[in-house]
Amino acid sequence: MHPFVLERPRDLSAALSFGAQAGRNDAPVEYIAGGTDMVQLLQEYVRRPDRLVSLAGVLDDGIEIGPQGLRLGAAATMAEVAAHQAVVEQFPLISQALLNSASPQVRNQATMGGNLLQRTRCPYFRDVGYEACNKRAPGSGCAALDGENRWHAVLGTSDDCIAVHPSDLAVALVALDASVELRGTGGDRSVPLSDLHRLPRDTPHLETVLGPGEVITAITVPANAAGLRSHYLKVRDRASFEFAVVSAAVAIETDGARIRQARVALGGVGTKPWRLPNVETALAGADFEPAALRQAAALAADGTRGRGHNDFKIELMQRAIVRAVEIAGARA
Ligand SMILES: Cc1cc2nc3c(=O)[nH]c(=O)nc-3n(C[C@H](O)[C@H](O)[C@H](O)COP(=O)(O)OP(=O)(O)OC[C@H]3O[C@@H](n4cnc5c(N)ncnc54)[C@H](O)[C@@H]3O)c2cc1C
Ligand code: SF4
Repeated sequence: MHPFVLERPRDLSAALSFGAQAGRNDAPVEYIAGGTDMVQLLQEYVRRPDRLVSLAGVLDDGIEIGPQGLRLGAAATMAEVAAHQAVVEQFPLISQALLNSASPQVRNQATMGGNLLQRTRCPYFRDVGYEACNKRAPGSGCAALDGENRWHAVLGTSDDCIAVHPSDLAVALVALDASVELRGTGGDRSVPLSDLHRLPRDTPHLETVLGPGEVITAITVPANAAGLRSHYLKVRDRASFEFAVVSAAVAIETDGARIRQARVALGGVGTKPWRLPNVETALAGADFEPAALRQAAALAADGTRGRGHNDFKIELMQRAIVRAVEIAGARA
């Protein structure tokens, strides 16, 4: 492990003053929260910051539900949020996505902020034995393009990077129109979660819109997402704990036997959590006939690009949408 200084700031403003930056491999200073992703990256020499700034004890870990909706403090753990009664009852999509993530041990330690900013599981990114990785070493190439790319993205890719964003939670939150509250030395701002992560384009080493020093302080989910019929469907290689091959987050409002409005997002297939407005529009007004659902889900394939081993995801993600809508619709 590259040697680093661990800073334990006494409060948030002291933490911000170090100018740490998430999601950039060239950042000399980074934050650490639960450490479940960061420590792995340090151990593998993927991250070599000179300084780590601990967020332990300086961020809100509250979970609040009010007239405005849900507010999750960035330091709340995955386990706490997944088990919170109001989350389970009013925002079950979030609870389901979390319970389908990682292992109980990891969920007990990992935080909301860290989950959204965890790094990709692309094996070429996580193994410094591979030289070509534009995300880890800008300009070095992308070993996944002609390599083993079964796990990689088919949406939002570029010729410089096809890595999947790995968070299940982010997929559910994007479907529910969530935002993140950010704080930096310049003040506070709120960013829709759909805008937090950047597309790779020709700068895959820049993963988010966070500026130097900025932290995620909270996640907010608007009240109008409460009470929707929803389902988080995750297809993975093993049932115990594993990242998504494909996942679908679906939340619908019904009007008798028809869908009045739908929200649909995909995981495991996009370079960022991927919302599908064209599928949502096609689902609005549809009944639950398989042919109608299938026709709407087919629009998810617009703009996809497979790279060989991952071509199967284009069909699988459509099936996942159909199945998730059917399950959500069958809920009372
Ligand atoms: C065995 C295993 C299985 C897993 N399976 C899944 C899975 O199926 N689905 C899934 O979604 N995830 C999975 N994960 C990933 C796991 O969810 C993440 O490791 C975890 O959520 C990261 O949270 P953390 O608090 O430990 O973050 P850390 O490791 O501390 O930090 C992660 C990143 O976020 C930054 N950061 C943390 N908090 C903030 C903040 N508030 N503001 C700004 N930057 C911040 C850090 O600088 C770092 O870059 C798995 C992990 C493991 C180890
Ligand atoms: S897909 Fe992205 S993260 Fe993976 S090797 Fe290519 S550039 Fe690196």
